[in-house]
Amino acid sequence: MRTQRQVVDYSLRKRAVLRELLAGRVGTYDVCDASPYLKNAARFHGEPTDERCPICRSENLIHVHYIYGDELKQSAGQARTLAELPVLAMTLREFQVFVVEVCLGCDWNHLVEQYLLGRDGLVEGGPEGDAVGGDVSGTVRRRREAQR
Ligand SMILES: [Zn+2]
Repeated sequence: MRTQRQVVDYSLRKRAVLRELLAGRVGTYDVCDASPYLKNAARFHGEPTDERCPICRSENLIHVHYIYGDELKQSAGQARTLAELPVLAMTLREFQVFVVEVCLGCDWNHLVEQYLLGRDGLVEGGPEGDAVGGDVSGTVRRRREAQR
């Protein structure tokens, strides 16, 4: 998505959890604890993936997109389909998206990533804005050279 920014990837944390599980330091009860709300969100707003569940290997994972932000008002904390996000991104200045993967087979769930969406991420003024941006960086460069 065009306005996507400040992406935080949680795949390392997920791998760590799976390692702990393989080593027997945590049980499947600890990691396969999707709430009824999360599973409903996965059923009704989820985005199916081609990725197999790392725990039961019998179902494909579903991505649920949760949105947070002051501008969302009563919609904050709700799940949205992936198709709805670009529309919101064009109408709101900024909101946070949390992507959670869920398995409806064994209730495995884990945070995949988070990022910001919204019009604030667009470069303002199109080509003119770009020219201004180039000018600013030129000024900084000249200033750095002057300091040497
Ligand atoms: Zn599973």
